[in-house]
Amino acid sequence: GYHKVIEENRKLYNQVQDLKGNIRVYCRVRPFLGGQTSHNSSVSNVEEGSISVVTPSKYSKEGTKTFTFNRAFGPSATQAEVFSDMQPLVRSVLDGYNVCIFAYGQTGSGKTHTMSGPDELNEETIGVNYRALRDLFLLSEQRKETIFYDISVQMLEIYNEQVRDLLTTDEIRNSSQNGINVPDASLVPVSSTSDVISLMNFGHKNRAVGSTAMNDRSSRSHSCLTVHVQGKYLTSGTTIRGSMHLVDLAGSERADKSEATGDRLKEAQHINKSLSALGDVIASLASKNAHVPYRNSKLTQLLQDSLGGQAKTLMFVHISPELEALGETLSTLKFAERVSTVELGVARVNKSNNSSDARELKEQIASLKAALAK
Ligand code: ADP
Ligand code: MG
Repeated sequence: GYHKVIEENRKLYNQVQDLKGNIRVYCRVRPFLGGQTSHNSSVSNVEEGSISVVTPSKYSKEGTKTFTFNRAFGPSATQAEVFSDMQPLVRSVLDGYNVCIFAYGQTGSGKTHTMSGPDELNEETIGVNYRALRDLFLLSEQRKETIFYDISVQMLEIYNEQVRDLLTTDEIRNSSQNGINVPDASLVPVSSTSDVISLMNFGHKNRAVGSTAMNDRSSRSHSCLTVHVQGKYLTSGTTIRGSMHLVDLAGSERADKSEATGDRLKEAQHINKSLSALGDVIASLASKNAHVPYRNSKLTQLLQDSLGGQAKTLMFVHISPELEALGETLSTLKFAERVSTVELGVARVNKSNNSSDARELKEQIASLKAALAK
């Protein structure tokens, strides 16, 4: 009947998603801020799947280098455009997939803008976090005749390799007592976007506690919003579980050598270590290495179950357009290149089978259409 068709349709949709690969790399260029003009941009060209930047030796058109991505967004891309591209990934959580979305880039490149949005939030400016949860609620509502979903969220912060629960009013608990998976981190059931917005605000305020400069702190720690989904089929009673980690990473910039001493140096070392551990994990997953080095940082330990296997990863790198930022921009783009090149190779291998995959999918689409027409 009708439900069967929907179910089949969903399988098909996930197969199409699978063909796109489990590791994707996107890039977004922030616009110039405060009315600056763009003629001094380090970014010379943005296509749908590539970004060209001027080379450091020569700030001219001739000296450009092009980096390719699964998707690239220029400075005028809207929040809605950015989300619509990752919407299928978000939706797969309701089908039992584990999804990780990372925002990577130097401080000020637009990570928080993409994930949460700017300070002034409205329908246009809201970021991926809100849009993702809103979409999950919407879709779960549409499926309620077939599946009943429970959705709950966690908010964690990793600062100096210490994991903090942002949704608790209790004393700060750290992972050395609670184990790596922070099993007693608050898991809060949510049933509407307004629930989520108030939780996020709570977590955000909590994050500022104990830090003199909130912005400093937020650029030196990773924040992770996790959505856990459990779905129960009404007829069979079968349950499926999916999760989504939305991670706003610490700023990737190298510490200024002259400034970095004491606490700053320690912070910088922790950030450096965890970002390279993350890069190592994704690169080794992309190249299908047997050994994946999850143990090298709290971040990768925490997300171990959601990285690799059937899990889907989106590394969303952000760059600033200013020429002064070129050094950091190039190191960000190189990071992106490292985690994606091998995967692009794998995608090419897939292509050789594509004709049979495509044929099979076409047949399924035809039979679904026929079933729907009945
Ligand atoms: P990060 O989190 O990487 O440190 P932010 O997201 O805080 O960077 O961005 C720095 C500033 O640039 C903020 O004022 C933010 O609102 C603005 N900004 C970033 N990306 C965009 C964008 N795509 N469009 C408009 N403003 C942006
Ligand atoms: Mg930020």
